[in-house]
Amino acid sequence: MMSESAARHLSRMFHRISVAIAAEKDRLSDLDGAIGDADHGITMVLGFTAVNGELAKLDLDHMLPSEVFTSAATAFLNAVGASTGPLYATAFRRAAQVLKEDEHLSAADQAAIVEAMTAGIRERGKGQRGDKTMLDAWIPATEAAVTARARAAGSLEMWTSILEAAETGANSTRSMVATRGRAARLGERSLGHIDPGAASAVIILRAMKETFAVDTVREQDR
Ligand SMILES: [Mg+2]
Repeated sequence: MMSESAARHLSRMFHRISVAIAAEKDRLSDLDGAIGDADHGITMVLGFTAVNGELAKLDLDHMLPSEVFTSAATAFLNAVGASTGPLYATAFRRAAQVLKEDEHLSAADQAAIVEAMTAGIRERGKGQRGDKTMLDAWIPATEAAVTARARAAGSLEMWTSILEAAETGANSTRSMVATRGRAARLGERSLGHIDPGAASAVIILRAMKETFAVDTVREQDR
């Protein structure tokens, strides 16, 4: 990265995610209220607030991005024990593992982060596309990242594709019947509502895009 350590850049990503999640806390809880226990907004705020609290204690100028993800995983899991907690903790741990091979946060690394996070969520949740979960945003986001890398797209173009795919995927959960978790008990009544986990995945990916693509473009413009 240019003027700051890669670890500090990554900590700004978590800060952006936290601010964006907090801004949409009520919407996320309302979405969850339609099909679950109405706590998704609160849960996600708790998780990312804990991550930022932990990162604020660390010496980011002497850390690697992989270590930031590892710290984030532990903090998120300690704050959110159930449901979403283990899923994002596993996602962050997988991202840490893949970054150990290349800590530069290049466009290729950014794509690898999205892929690794999705693989972690998928493995931990044992879910797939069409289950009406966060994976309905994460899986298309990963496919978009892979496709963008294959055509050698730059970071901004790649993140634009990732976000579009995630938004389309999240919106598609409206016409899905939940098969997993609490919402599955609702059956057909889960139709017509966007899955809260897919909605928060879009918020996370948008904050990642703003960190990796938009900020970097601004830096280059200076
Ligand atoms: Mg809930």
